Amino acid sequence: MEKYEIETLLAQAGNHSQEDPYGTVSTPIYLSSNFRHGKLSDVDHFDYEKQYAYSRMANPTRKVLEQTLALLEEGTRAFALSSGMAAIQLVFSLFKSGDEIISTDDLYGGTFRYFDHLNDHFGLNFSQWNGKDIADLKKLITAKTVAIWIETPSNPTMKEVDLVAIATFIHNINSNIKIIVDNTFYTPIYQKPLTLGADIVVHSATKYLSGHNDLLGGAVVCKGTELTEKLIFNFNTTGAVLDPFDSWLLLRSLKTLPLRMRQHTENAQAIFKFLSTSPAVSKVLYPGVGGMISFYLKDSSKLATFFDNLKIISFAESLGGVESLVTLPAKQTHHDMPIEQREHLGITDNLLRLSVGLENSKDLITELKKALE
Ligand SMILES: *Cc1c(COP(=O)(O)O)cnc(C)c1O
Repeated sequence: MEKYEIETLLAQAGNHSQEDPYGTVSTPIYLSSNFRHGKLSDVDHFDYEKQYAYSRMANPTRKVLEQTLALLEEGTRAFALSSGMAAIQLVFSLFKSGDEIISTDDLYGGTFRYFDHLNDHFGLNFSQWNGKDIADLKKLITAKTVAIWIETPSNPTMKEVDLVAIATFIHNINSNIKIIVDNTFYTPIYQKPLTLGADIVVHSATKYLSGHNDLLGGAVVCKGTELTEKLIFNFNTTGAVLDPFDSWLLLRSLKTLPLRMRQHTENAQAIFKFLSTSPAVSKVLYPGVGGMISFYLKDSSKLATFFDNLKIISFAESLGGVESLVTLPAKQTHHDMPIEQREHLGITDNLLRLSVGLENSKDLITELKKALE
């Protein structure tokens, strides 16, 4: 297949598809849970990767989406799931009791909660690494280490890790240790972990991939036939698949991902500049691209008035959509993290996380200026 630039790949996603006999430009929504078999002998030679029988295994709309996601992240196979957490759960179906996983220490709150649960009830052992010092990482690796879980940039403190350095280091020690990256924040527009040495990429498609605050979804993209075969089996066996309508909606949204990410970045850079000079803000965390900014209010007693003065920016969970959102991680997404760890990571009560939307940045800055006064 010809390799196109990302804008072309996405704008054309589903057009010229093998899945549709009528030449549709937009992929149809196949609302059928099942598909007729042909002859009895067909069942004996059934190829689940090419034919259809039952929509948990494969559905033509989801197939087009999954093919697009695989091309986008440059992986072997992609899986579209019903939420980001379902995607993370699919990845963990690869591991078993007694396995050890190293994770970066600043994680999405739901991921942190799930790891805790696996640790306490399913015998998987987690250790945490601060994402900085490779010598510290080395100390955490044992004969039982099966994977390293990375969020970069991290949520909500925007720490970045050097994926190439980590992947090279880990795979030199043991090529079977899987490097898994949650790429929700940067998306493949700014980072393609599989091209940097990772084995598996995970997304909450609820965020930038869908980008309109209107669906829940998740994606897993893997490299190589071994992982592909295992994940196909586990995906079909556990069944948290994305339904045909949301598959179509996500595919449609992906077509504007490059445009949206460029504008999220442009808006966030303008807001970063403004917040950096605001006397009401003590520190701003922004990795330079993407639409996520975290910042500390100097005076946390001003939080309530800050929220009261917002008209455009919604006080609401989630991120990555056209509408700007603000959250208070210590009270919302990261509430389940023990307070000592929160404090250690800098997730204090005066830390706000802003998902910069696609409104005009002048209006957003005017609003922030007023709310911070
Ligand atoms: C939201 C989020 C998740 C979980 O995804 P859901 O779609 O809410 O299940 C995982 N990782 C990151 C970085 C997220 O922001």
